[in-house]
Amino acid sequence: MLVYLFRFLLVLVFLRLLFRFIGGLFRGYRQAEPVSGGARGVPLVRDRVCNTFLPEERALRAVIAGREEFFCSAACRDRALADASVSKSLAGARDLPPHSTH
Ligand SMILES: [Zn+2]
Repeated sequence: MLVYLFRFLLVLVFLRLLFRFIGGLFRGYRQAEPVSGGARGVPLVRDRVCNTFLPEERALRAVIAGREEFFCSAACRDRALADASVSKSLAGARDLPPHSTH
C-alpha cells in the first residue's frame, strides 16, 4: 500500500514537472511570437531618399505633392520635402513672366 502511495506521489511530481516544462515552452513561444511576427508580418515601405526598406509602423510619413511617402528618419523626410519645394519653386519660377522677378 505504501508503495502505491509512493508511486502516486512520484507520478504527481513528474506530472507537475512536465506541466511546468510545457508551460515554460508555451510561455517562451508566446514571448517569441510578436518578435518573429513583427519581422515578417509587417508591410515594408521604401524610403526613396536613402533607398532603405523599413517597417511601415516605424516609418515617418509625409505627404509630398499629394502623395504619401515614407522615410526612415526626419533627415530623409526633410531632404525629400526640400527637394519637393525646390522643384515646386523652380516650376513656379518657370511659369512666371521673366520680367516680373528681379
Ligand atoms: Zn532614409
